[in-house]
Amino acid sequence: MNIQFQNPFSQKGNWYKGNLHAHTTMSDGKKSPGDIVAMYQDGGYDFLAVTDHNKRTVVDSHTGKMLLIPGEEIDISYNGCYHLVAVNTREALSLPPEARRNVHPKDIIAAVKAKGGDVILAHPYWSNETLEMTRLCEGVLGVEVYNHVCHVDAANGHSMAHWDDMLRIGMRMFGFASDDSHHYVVRDMHPLDTQGGWIMVKTEQCTADAIMAAIRAGNFYASSGPDFKSVVIDGTTVTVETSPVRSIAFRTPQWGGARFEGNDGKLITRAVFTVKSADLRCLRVECTDEQGRMAWVNPLWIVA
Ligand SMILES: [Zn+2]
Ligand SMILES: [Zn+2]
Repeated sequence: MNIQFQNPFSQKGNWYKGNLHAHTTMSDGKKSPGDIVAMYQDGGYDFLAVTDHNKRTVVDSHTGKMLLIPGEEIDISYNGCYHLVAVNTREALSLPPEARRNVHPKDIIAAVKAKGGDVILAHPYWSNETLEMTRLCEGVLGVEVYNHVCHVDAANGHSMAHWDDMLRIGMRMFGFASDDSHHYVVRDMHPLDTQGGWIMVKTEQCTADAIMAAIRAGNFYASSGPDFKSVVIDGTTVTVETSPVRSIAFRTPQWGGARFEGNDGKLITRAVFTVKSADLRCLRVECTDEQGRMAWVNPLWIVA
């Protein structure tokens, strides 16, 4: 038995923080492109993809250090609703409504890839997607396991079960956390919908090509709060270290897995799990902090 894992924690380079999903006044966002770029830059982000609906927003007058990766969010219908976030395309797709009606997701994914880009399946829980639907998205890099605005607005931002469904049938999907920011202000009984879901990417350079290559390889993890500090695999034993959290879980889409929580409310920073059977096939690690915010390591694959 052997565990296959692209371990970002053993790669050379630096950690870069970024969000690959955000809207502006060019679609239904409430702030201008310039304003949101400034907000993310002030928030300490290293990279951002502005992803307005079905159009590519060019942010001119951006002179700061934060990297901008081009993107757009393409919504289509095909026996249901899919939102596909295209990032790092060479040019816009900007598909008109008739080209997005009753079109198979694989055709959109192919069109994005033909322009050098990659696709992330946005908020499957919010979109009411069943496995019959998500399984048609072969070729995406992964799914938004966490979408911040969906969580803030409607409590359907967490898509762990949708991710696990895809993993269970062997789809090698990464997990992304994104803001999908629209409002950018605190509203009555709704906290900020921005800077609450991000990915941490390990690579040597903060360029679009380096960030995308690292993401495609799996050198990143997703978070809505806590940090992972290390993942160490020794034979079939997996040890993870985190910032102080309430619980650490080793999740598997098969039977099995384990969850660890500090007794009497004590926070923990480390947990260990030994894989006993290749029947698990896939394992992923997630942690939850005192405020209920989470972080997710990409899947480890167990081969007999
Ligand atoms: Zn969407
Ligand atoms: Zn969106």
